[in-house]
Amino acid sequence: MVSADKENKVAVVDKKDEATLNPKSTKFEFGGPIGALGVSVTTPLMLYLLHLGCSDLTGGCPPPLLSISSTLKSERWWDALWDWNAFFVYCGWYAYCCLCWRLIPGDWVKGTVMRNGQTKEYKMNAFATALLTLGLVAGTIYRYGPLSFIFIYDHYLALISASIVMSLVQAFTVYYLSFRNGALLALGGNSGNYLYDWFIGRELNPSCAWLDRMKFDLKTFNELRPGLILWMLNDISCMCEQMVRRGRHAWPTDSMILINVFQGLYVLDALWNESTILTQMDITTDGFGFMLAVGDLAWVPFSYALQARYLAFSQHELGWPLTIFVFALNSIGYYIFRTANTDKDTFRGGKNPKNLKSLKTKRGTELIISGFWGMSRHPNYWGDLMMALAWCMTTGFHTPITYFYIVFFVILLTHRAMRDDEQCRKKYGDDWNKYKAIVRWRIIPYIY
Ligand code: NDP
Repeated sequence: MVSADKENKVAVVDKKDEATLNPKSTKFEFGGPIGALGVSVTTPLMLYLLHLGCSDLTGGCPPPLLSISSTLKSERWWDALWDWNAFFVYCGWYAYCCLCWRLIPGDWVKGTVMRNGQTKEYKMNAFATALLTLGLVAGTIYRYGPLSFIFIYDHYLALISASIVMSLVQAFTVYYLSFRNGALLALGGNSGNYLYDWFIGRELNPSCAWLDRMKFDLKTFNELRPGLILWMLNDISCMCEQMVRRGRHAWPTDSMILINVFQGLYVLDALWNESTILTQMDITTDGFGFMLAVGDLAWVPFSYALQARYLAFSQHELGWPLTIFVFALNSIGYYIFRTANTDKDTFRGGKNPKNLKSLKTKRGTELIISGFWGMSRHPNYWGDLMMALAWCMTTGFHTPITYFYIVFFVILLTHRAMRDDEQCRKKYGDDWNKYKAIVRWRIIPYIY
């Protein structure tokens, strides 16, 4: 009797602790359940539309109306939508990334302290994984020619489908796992609405006993490896396709070289600075659900490679004046992006080699108010947007569709800046208003 009483007491205390640790979410983002449903349906649809609306399969970018209707009737696009070979290749790629994570040596770095007082450790070997992969791909192309690396281009639609299936499988699995005892939920993912929580991510760092033992973190893994590195491979495959079409011994166009260099540099930069992701909102605050899964695994690699895919079948040369302009735009953007990110990371790491001015806050952390961080509250987004525009411009001015990326990115980053503003208002209170009075511009000085 005494022991039953004791057990009951423990259960009551555990329940109370659980409620304190994982409070119910009171606010919806992304338009709540309806918005979650909308994004969940439109993201895969947009991926297919972007492909069919800009492809030699349908006859152009955009394809003429007549050609669209004849393609739809011919069911060629329907056949291209699913292919078991592509599905197994995609699964093989994901397994290869896991194997690299496990086998390639890397430093273990601690993340931020979580709500439950614990800290996770993350293995840093994404850059080494990318180098190994690029080496293998370069060796294959050198030995067997560009024809040996056009599988991705040829099976693009089917690979998109495979990545969406993988995202769905992961989203359902992590949602199910989030109900296990002791799971630390995301503050924004515990609303009780199944659809919304599944979409936004119920658990902060989805895991299970087996993954815990290996210290494998699915969220950071997905964010940097299978999607980002695949984006680079997609670009390279498009370049190979273009070379094959241009005939033996032909070089890729200047536009194709530029897009590969720009986006390759962007990806390698993210992987080289792997540890900086640990302080980003996606890792510290957001849960992992369908939104992040489909974003990381399907949206990034397959929609961000749109320019390279277009250039594979529309082989425009930019010419020197535009090449120099686009190169300069990307370089200045990269300089702002990298300097801003490095300044903030160095400062947050407790160092201030540039003697940047800062505002002391009651929270204990200081906010930089000089250098790029004195010009706007998100100078890193400003640089990122300049690069995004340069990438679109590599396709010249023949079609508006390849400019989809900059339009999407403006929406993504302004929405992200608003979300961060809200988080910082909560974190810093009045000090955040003081900071906003000093640094007035949100992203681009004198514009926004
Ligand atoms: P930020 O790097 O701007 O980080 C925001 C956080 O930085 C705030 O929550 C705050 O956290 C801290 N901070 C804000 N202002 C200051 C200041 N003045 N001084 C010091 N710290 C400050 O945003 P993200 O994490 O969203 O983006 C990181 C990078 O990733 C960016 O370069 C962005 O462009 C890129 N990105 C790219 C995407 C893509 O699809 N290609 C998508 C999303 C982002 P605290 O005070 O708690 O430290």
